Amino acid sequence: MKKIFQNQNFKTMRLLLGLAVLFLMLGVGFSFQDKKHVFSREQEISIKKVQADLASGEKYSQDPVEIIFGGDVMLDRYIRQVIERRGGDFIWQKIISELQMAEGVVVNLEGPITSNESVSVNTQIGERNNYIFTFDSGVTDFLKDANIRAVNLGNNHILNFGSDGAKQTQKYLQEAGITFFGNFQGNSAPGWRTLEIEGLKIALVNFNQFSSGAVEKTLADLKEAQVKNDFVVLMPHWGNEYENYINEKQKELARRFIEAGADLVIGSHPHVVQLSETYQGRKIYYSLGNFIFDQYFSEETQKGLLVKAVFDKKNHSIDFQELRLNLNANGQVEIVR
Ligand SMILES: [Zn+2]
Repeated sequence: MKKIFQNQNFKTMRLLLGLAVLFLMLGVGFSFQDKKHVFSREQEISIKKVQADLASGEKYSQDPVEIIFGGDVMLDRYIRQVIERRGGDFIWQKIISELQMAEGVVVNLEGPITSNESVSVNTQIGERNNYIFTFDSGVTDFLKDANIRAVNLGNNHILNFGSDGAKQTQKYLQEAGITFFGNFQGNSAPGWRTLEIEGLKIALVNFNQFSSGAVEKTLADLKEAQVKNDFVVLMPHWGNEYENYINEKQKELARRFIEAGADLVIGSHPHVVQLSETYQGRKIYYSLGNFIFDQYFSEETQKGLLVKAVFDKKNHSIDFQELRLNLNANGQVEIVR
């Protein structure tokens, strides 16, 4: 469908078509009324149905919805400098059309958005400040440009500037209309959120291995999230950094979370792509690796994966397409064809 029409145009067309049908019926009805006729029962029923469909949007929510999931996004250090020097457009340039074709993009935001100065710019690998991140408040525009509709905050960097940094992050995201979710110490916001697109409700649930009591919290969130949503996507931040192999804990937890109601698992944190598998008919991507990150010290950390998931509400099924990424040393990211 998207290959033929631009999404927005297609939606507008359907709406216009619906309105045309409605006006046609009203027109027919009015011409009868002129002759002192009323609507036939069939006409009344179909007019009411079109009116109800238009009001609720229900009829148009049955089309599959395509969401792209990406890995770790880190916008401090070298990436901050590239954005300052060349603009955010430069970073997205090679993949922007792909991202905008989807109904939305969801990623792990590996740090807070604050008004604080960066402490990691120009530091060396191994120095303490090299691992303390803060992203400029302007990055919400950068994220929105790339169609990023929701971000996970449940990770090991969200508290880099304390609970005040996390609060600032939530404020900036809220102002920008970007959905956020995730579990971390001192967070009063829910650990999961619904991302609603074209009438499809996807619950985004986080598991953060760096937050205490995380397993129990995630199990409780999964239970809650299932109730009012069409799909439940679990986004864990877990595993061992720079290891292609998953650990036993990840494997065990993925199974537990699927048994507890997750329809899909999309992991992050290891900074490299890890294996994917299917359990009870549900797909597990243990780690998508990096998405936007300045880790150019190895081939593995310069590779990432985007997962295009097409959610079909009618059949309660998800189709997948994987796009392999390369993170170039100039800050740009591109799809490997
Ligand atoms: Zn991490």
